[in-house]
Amino acid sequence: MMKDNSSEAMKSDVDAVAIWEAKFKKDTLVGRDFREYWKLHVPTIYAPDESTNFLHISYDDDSAQKLLFDTLKQFICIDNPAEVLKHLKELTTPAALCGKVFRMGEATYSCRDCGQDSTCVLCRDCFAASAHQQHRYKMNQSVGGGYCDCGDREAWKDSFCCSIHERNAVGGGTSSLLKFPPEIVQRARAVFSAVLDYSLEMLTHENTMGLPHDLRSPLEQEGDADDLLSGAEPLRTPLYVTMFYNDETHTFEQVIECLRRAVECSQRDAVDYATIIDRVGRSIVKCGDFQTCNKAKQVFEHHSVRHSSGPYKVHVMHTHVVAHQTFAMRLLLWLKKLIEEVDGFRTLFGQIVTEPAADGPVLERVMKSDTQLWKLARNQWHLLLIQGMLMEHDSKKVFAKTFTRLYPALMRDFMCDDHNHSDSVTSLSVQIYTVPTIAYMLITDEDCLFVVTRTFYDECINRRNAQGVLSFDARSPNTTWRRISYCLNDLRYLLNNMRPPQWTDQLRKGFLHGFNALLDVLAVMEGMDSSVRQMGNHLEFDPEWQTAFTLFGKLSIVIYHLMDWCSSDRMVLVKAYRAVLRKLYGKLSEERLRPSATVTAAGKTFRVIEFDMWQKPVSLHLPLTRMLAGLHLHLGRFGLQFGSPEFEMEDRPTIQQIMETSLRAVILTTQVRAGMWRRNGTSLVSQVHFYSNVRIRSEIQDRDVQILQMAAALEDPDEFIMTLMLRYGIHHWLAPDFEGVMRRTTEVDGEPVTYFVETVQEGGKTVTNFVQTVQEFTHNLEEMMLVLIHVFGERYQPGVGEVTREDCLKKEIIQCLCIEPTPHSKLSKLVVAENHNVSIEQLADQVAEFKLPQNGTGKGVYELKPELYSDYNPFWYHYTREEQSRAEGAQRRRKRLADEPACLPPPQLPPFTPEFRAARNVAVCRAMLDVLLTVLRRSADLTARVFSETLFQRALFLMGLALNEEERSAAGATADAGPPEQPPAFCFSQPAQQCGIVDALQNMVGNPRVSSHADLLAWVNAKLNRLLGRTAAAPESQPSTSEEAGSEQKKRRAQAAARRARILGQMQAQQKKFITQNMTALAEPEEAEPSGALSAERAAAVTGSAMDLSEGAEPDRWPVCLGPRQSARPAAPAEYTCILCQATEQVSSTRPAMVMAAFVQLSTVLSRDRASTAANPVLYVPSSLHRLPHTSSCGHAMHAACWQRHFENVCQRERRRAHRLRHNMSYDVQKREFLCPLCQCLSNTVVPLVPARMVALDGDDRPPADNINVWVKGLQLACAHTVVQVDESPGADHSVEQRRVRYRSPGLKTVLKHMTQREGNQFRAQVRLGDRIAEIPTSTREMMITFAMVPCMVGLDGRVELGDRRVPLLTLQTCAYTLHTTEQLLRHTGRPLLAELGSRGDICLTQLTHVCATMLPVVAELGTAQASCLGLLRLLLDQPAGGPPVTDMDAFGLVVILCSLTTTLFAEHADGIQAPSGSLQDLQCVRLSLLLHLVQILLTLDVAELTRQQPMETDDEPAAGDQDEQQWLAELYTLVRSAAGVEVADVSPPLLRQYVAGAVTPFLRCCALYFHFLTGVRAPDELLQPLPLAAQYPHLLRYLGLDSLCVPQATDCQSVLQDLIAKWCRHPDIGPYLAGSRGPIVRYPLSVNTLIPLPVDFSELINKVSDFTCPSSDGESRVPAMCLACGELLCSQSYCCQVQVEHIGQIGACNAHLMRCGAGSGVMLRIRECRVHLLVNKVRGASVPPPYVDKFGEMDQGLNRGNPLTLWREQYDKLNRLWIAHGIPEEVTRLMEDSFSQTDWQNL
Ligand SMILES: [Zn+2]
Ligand SMILES: [Zn+2]
Ligand SMILES: [Zn+2]
Ligand SMILES: [Zn+2]
Ligand SMILES: [Zn+2]
Ligand SMILES: [Zn+2]
Ligand SMILES: [Zn+2]
Repeated sequence: MMKDNSSEAMKSDVDAVAIWEAKFKKDTLVGRDFREYWKLHVPTIYAPDESTNFLHISYDDDSAQKLLFDTLKQFICIDNPAEVLKHLKELTTPAALCGKVFRMGEATYSCRDCGQDSTCVLCRDCFAASAHQQHRYKMNQSVGGGYCDCGDREAWKDSFCCSIHERNAVGGGTSSLLKFPPEIVQRARAVFSAVLDYSLEMLTHENTMGLPHDLRSPLEQEGDADDLLSGAEPLRTPLYVTMFYNDETHTFEQVIECLRRAVECSQRDAVDYATIIDRVGRSIVKCGDFQTCNKAKQVFEHHSVRHSSGPYKVHVMHTHVVAHQTFAMRLLLWLKKLIEEVDGFRTLFGQIVTEPAADGPVLERVMKSDTQLWKLARNQWHLLLIQGMLMEHDSKKVFAKTFTRLYPALMRDFMCDDHNHSDSVTSLSVQIYTVPTIAYMLITDEDCLFVVTRTFYDECINRRNAQGVLSFDARSPNTTWRRISYCLNDLRYLLNNMRPPQWTDQLRKGFLHGFNALLDVLAVMEGMDSSVRQMGNHLEFDPEWQTAFTLFGKLSIVIYHLMDWCSSDRMVLVKAYRAVLRKLYGKLSEERLRPSATVTAAGKTFRVIEFDMWQKPVSLHLPLTRMLAGLHLHLGRFGLQFGSPEFEMEDRPTIQQIMETSLRAVILTTQVRAGMWRRNGTSLVSQVHFYSNVRIRSEIQDRDVQILQMAAALEDPDEFIMTLMLRYGIHHWLAPDFEGVMRRTTEVDGEPVTYFVETVQEGGKTVTNFVQTVQEFTHNLEEMMLVLIHVFGERYQPGVGEVTREDCLKKEIIQCLCIEPTPHSKLSKLVVAENHNVSIEQLADQVAEFKLPQNGTGKGVYELKPELYSDYNPFWYHYTREEQSRAEGAQRRRKRLADEPACLPPPQLPPFTPEFRAARNVAVCRAMLDVLLTVLRRSADLTARVFSETLFQRALFLMGLALNEEERSAAGATADAGPPEQPPAFCFSQPAQQCGIVDALQNMVGNPRVSSHADLLAWVNAKLNRLLGRTAAAPESQPSTSEEAGSEQKKRRAQAAARRARILGQMQAQQKKFITQNMTALAEPEEAEPSGALSAERAAAVTGSAMDLSEGAEPDRWPVCLGPRQSARPAAPAEYTCILCQATEQVSSTRPAMVMAAFVQLSTVLSRDRASTAANPVLYVPSSLHRLPHTSSCGHAMHAACWQRHFENVCQRERRRAHRLRHNMSYDVQKREFLCPLCQCLSNTVVPLVPARMVALDGDDRPPADNINVWVKGLQLACAHTVVQVDESPGADHSVEQRRVRYRSPGLKTVLKHMTQREGNQFRAQVRLGDRIAEIPTSTREMMITFAMVPCMVGLDGRVELGDRRVPLLTLQTCAYTLHTTEQLLRHTGRPLLAELGSRGDICLTQLTHVCATMLPVVAELGTAQASCLGLLRLLLDQPAGGPPVTDMDAFGLVVILCSLTTTLFAEHADGIQAPSGSLQDLQCVRLSLLLHLVQILLTLDVAELTRQQPMETDDEPAAGDQDEQQWLAELYTLVRSAAGVEVADVSPPLLRQYVAGAVTPFLRCCALYFHFLTGVRAPDELLQPLPLAAQYPHLLRYLGLDSLCVPQATDCQSVLQDLIAKWCRHPDIGPYLAGSRGPIVRYPLSVNTLIPLPVDFSELINKVSDFTCPSSDGESRVPAMCLACGELLCSQSYCCQVQVEHIGQIGACNAHLMRCGAGSGVMLRIRECRVHLLVNKVRGASVPPPYVDKFGEMDQGLNRGNPLTLWREQYDKLNRLWIAHGIPEEVTRLMEDSFSQTDWQNL
């Protein structure tokens, strides 16, 4: 009863605070008191009910603030919270650390000069305010979760703080908590504890059916689950929800599908749910009574049974539980903000969470509960912990200790978790383990190194096989293994820091404890994934190998650091070395590696370990052995060696045993590379490949070589050589009678095979064993020689040779540059991760010169300094076989070009360190000399089968190395450079002479068997003689040798040159043949257009016209293409070769029709109004140029019949193709797409080639009746007397107004009736001047129809039928639009208008204009064409209400359409239709359109802007004509603007003219293009040059037959035209248009649309998108992409923004956007990865190089390298040109044809 009363009393917020107040005073305040209050209000505010929209949940935030949060502040601050908090804040010193937590994808910056390691990063603001901007910084993108390290002294070697946080850094030190009033601290403590306990309890509350008892409301008794299931009735029906939880095991699709079924929601809602679940970690999907919710849950469970991915996590929860959880989440946020604001509270928070409590400190409990929480709840806690504990060093230490103590438990939880690492509390390790002082502290105090290693090892134990070795199965998923591998990252963090500045005994102990634990790990890896050589059959399946290498990849960095630590302290090194020896001994004794065989060589007998490489398992994984080698290299520095007393112990392996496994690995790799293990499949090949992978080889391949070098130095060299030969199975070879006694030949499959046998005594009998074939034997011998070269010669390793780390890297760079000049990115790969402080640029600059890319294309490359080529080592151990031969080829080429002898002698080597010096003896020991001598003798012996040039070369090379060594050793002994070498000095020449090598070498001179190495032989001989002091001894043989070698060389060179020339000649001939066969169509226009008398004759012959040809031949006359003064039009007969049947064909009406492949696409490239949804007006081209069909062609001609056959074949082939394979097709036959058979250019139609004669000029009378007023008047009369017919036929489409009403021409007679006699004559003369279209052959007619249908289908996106009035109109539209595009492209690229289009463009435009000019009678009935014509004329001349204003029409489009349509107006039969050909009527069409255009220009003219401009400075007076023009334009200006009722300000006439001339030029250019291609009239020279736009204006006018801009009588009082202008300007829509309310105003001159400008600095883009959120889900967008046409940001490749479209299904945001913005195709920049994608048609796409490069001229797709990127203008221009030229679909098809990419472009 008491309790109830108190609850009642607490109803109001004031009372609640009072009660807490009272209890606080009495010191009885506990957490329960707060909960009592929350119990009352939380459910009312936060509980969901059936009406809640779970996709957009909203709460009563005002009440929540007032009742729940303000009360807490009130209580803490006693009175006035705002005042008190302000005071507390003033006491606070702001945090010295920036600590900004990164969102995913946010740009982070690291400094390679100052960063302690690569995890030290800055946020954007701090970076911009820091000194690192001037350093070598890197830019990256956060994966989310980390925070800015600005202000952390331990993270930076220099400039640890930006200028923003600088002032904070000075304060710091003690917490401000001490300055707070104690009472406030007490109160805050009470609240914090209550909040933390409550939140932790609620968020981990397991009973989803009901609340903890003290939170249960007395009025609303929840039923327990048991009650419900048993059917007992609760007091009041409580509400429940079905809560769906996220996991990382089910795919998005699975979840969506499941939700759709279980919740019965739409696809869209299911996607939204799934998005929330993915982002937040859970979502309510149903609310109702228990049964409803439980049913939904069961459906989920039922659904998940069918999936192998396991069950979904779904709970039915009481709504009050949900409410309290929501509140708990908000409390955490509230607390975090409070801590952030008031620094002292952070200290308090740190104290509270680490205080011991009954069930452990809060911090521990939070960490342990991590995996029980859903995603957002975890993140909330993590953020609070970062804010509360990681911002200060002391609390960070406490946190680190707790974290480490819990580490094994946390990792175990994480292993079973189903969330990503970044959502796990274990991901916080990077924040603490990377701090050096904390890492040392943890290793010392908490044994952290051991704890982490052991946690990993415990999992390794579970994965051992019967042999006790780690083993992985390819067939079972390795999820838990992947998770436990994060331990290795943590190890790396711990060790990544500099080696400790000071070793303490405790630290040594902690370190070695961890080190020993790691040896356990290495021991179970030793011998992993071993292979046994397959003899008969191939391996059935390739065993798993990747996991082992991935594991080692991670470990290798840890090992590197471990060794680095070891090498910094003698005691640690000794103990570590001993530990490895002991471990190795244990491991080796398992295998019982004991010498069991004896061999005799060099007069000695050795006991050796027996092992058959070809029968026993061999493994490449020997991390333990290699660890020993790594440590061994450091011994010398402390005066230690293998035999030192420190390492004397019972249980240690001999050097023979140590070497054994490494030797096997080395032999295995060389044999696999030589192809001797082919039957073992690709797994082994891959392993060998990774063995020398640049990232890990330093700990694998290099260590093996070092072990061999160790053994060579410590063992008897003869024994070493014999062991090697024994392992290779070639030890019998030294026997003098080897070839004679042991060789056998047999037949295998009819082929003779030679092999070797050995005979052994077994049980008194002689048994013969097969050994190896000749080939195998030779390979083995070659490989052994290579191993010896490496043992003797690879000294670039600190500890092995007297070199530094930098020397080694320089050597790597030199060897790399010997292959070819190399870009920076490739060189930087040579520097592996741990050396990130080494600057590859600095090293490269020492050995090479950087050459920037030429003409902005390609990458910049480093080129080796010439003097360093002598360092080139052809047998460099890091070369792959391919690199080795490429380098050799490159070096030989270089020498040949420099006219040097082609010999590639061995380089000078750095000296060995004293510890390794004895390894040199392998080259001069008895056994080795025997080997070398045998190589030489058997080379000379032609009966010996074991011989190869390679073997000979390697032997020579090794001798050369030894001679170099001898030379240096001798020089070192005399010169006082460095300490004198220990005697005896190295000497090869003497022993070589003694054993007969010198003579044997001499004997080889001139031997043809080794002629290819004659130069090296000469080099060795010369050096040998010099060292033996025999320079003068053989004067007669020496020069002859080199001469002989030289002449041999010359002969071979000459032969090679001859061969090259022959091949080249053949190729050229083939090329020529190909060109003549196929490329006639591509011949240059000059060749295609013959000039002079001959051409005239031919032209006359073909056209049969009587025109006066002398005009055409007159070169001085200015060409005019339009009107009465039109120049002669050459009509060259066109000849094309069919690319399909190769027959050459003349295009004429009597020959079979020809076509060329073409591609019509809907385009918005020139659009002025991308957002427009207006339909295509059909009758005219809209001035917005939005969504119009564009036509392009590759210009390749074929017979129509050949093409049809070809296309049918393509269709049939595609139909046969399985449906699933069609998915990623580069073209779609369903859309009638195909590839040009010759150039593979994407096409979807053909353009017929129209015989030139059909558009030739009809030689009729040409009366000078040029009067545009009469012409317009006549047309107006025709409109006025149009017969309007209503089409009542049943099939007519009544919904379309235009269709129902049909206009019929009144006929010429009717028009003339309403004119005076004189006008009539003039009018008749003007409308009669077109070309009669000649008879068009049927096959060409068919092709015309085929073509004409396509623009209509593409442009209107639907099916159309022949006879549809829109067919010819859309065809004319595509002609106009294509010419517009051509004009803009030429303008954009600055090329002259009428030249250099290239043959492809020329033929395309010529044929396009010709087809458009002649197709009307073919594709439309006369009546339909007339109706269209009258429809357009009525719109234009009558300006009916409801019709478009003139500002809606594109003036040039009008030219093209009017010229074609007006020829039909008075025709009486279809035969009478004439083609536009530059006639007088065409001139009038141009004038009318020009007038309309001028009106547009003057209407849209920005007067204010114009008056601000200065007229162009001209020296000379304006010509009379110019003044007329000025005058006329000024009149027109006044007329137009006053009629339209817009501002008529005073404008100076010259300025106006200058402006108008500029504005009208693009229109004139389009007209010039059109009539040039239509008529073929040659262009004036001025238009063949790249003149500036303004200078082209007068020439264009002249070419078009216009004297000036003035349209006659247009401004005359009461003329027909003046009336018309007034009519245009008074159109009711003009006003709204100019006010901008009818969409964007189109201003002139039409500017060229380009892709949006991009910032020079790429990081600007990164920062721009870091603020971008997904527009549909409000969450972060993972793949933000930018449309480069309009700049809009899109949330790409994500379910949240997918859109459903017909026939295809779901498409991503980019494709959806492009349907609007780009009519289906466009260019997208994915900003986080710096990738550019071209997308076409929702399903196709391709990647192209992004327009950003670093200072080395290299791109960074995926931002892996992180160098600062800047705009690469050339590339962006290229992209821009491609886009303007409408080349994207074609480019995508081309790229898709070339690639096998499986990208699902649709999802982008
Ligand atoms: Zn920052
Ligand atoms: Zn900062
Ligand atoms: Zn820096
Ligand atoms: Zn053909
Ligand atoms: Zn082609
Ligand atoms: Zn989205
Ligand atoms: Zn766009």
